[in-house]
Amino acid sequence: MGKKELFDTFCAELYQCNKCGICKTRTNVVHGDFREDCRVFLLGEAPGGSEDQTGRPFTGQAGGILTEFLNLAGLQRGNVYISNVVKCRPTKPSNHGRYGNYANRKPTAEEIASCAPWFAKELEIIAPTVLVTLGAVPLSHIVGRQVPIGKAHGMLFLSKNFNLPVFPLYHPAAVIYDQSKKTAYEQDIKRLGKWLKNYLKEQ
Ligand code: SF4
Repeated sequence: MGKKELFDTFCAELYQCNKCGICKTRTNVVHGDFREDCRVFLLGEAPGGSEDQTGRPFTGQAGGILTEFLNLAGLQRGNVYISNVVKCRPTKPSNHGRYGNYANRKPTAEEIASCAPWFAKELEIIAPTVLVTLGAVPLSHIVGRQVPIGKAHGMLFLSKNFNLPVFPLYHPAAVIYDQSKKTAYEQDIKRLGKWLKNYLKEQ
């Protein structure tokens, strides 16, 4: 079976998933857009309201910021694969939700564990050259323990668990809530762009 067929089978199975309680409130399961030769895999935390509605990752305000930052690294959305540790939107009841009577919340450890085999399968099919984590949740998932993103951002390391170079970035939403992180984000992503250019040349 070719890579595209494997991906299509993966998606068909993923859409049926009810392994955790989030399946009861989701509108769509969210994953990246398949590309045959995708070298960079960006991994976020979980879909938000906009992503749940569209079925596509990083389409909300944080997605707009991510697209701008990617351009600084010489990357286009069209040539990277973007997904999340958790494939459905974790919610909590709210009277102030922008998308119905629910607001976003962080995924629980149990939900992350339930969804982990989907990410492992997705990573195996996409087979990127480098993994870029967006925020503390995906970074901690890769490392296998809690890692403070304030210390780890911008510091490339080799993941033994996943046998891949990993470049941790802040979650783009961090810049919405704290503009002081913008400079650090820009510096990190420029460093990523420079490293990628040299690294991909050597592959
Ligand atoms: S979040 Fe993951 S494990 Fe839970 S229902 Fe969605 S796809 Fe399945």
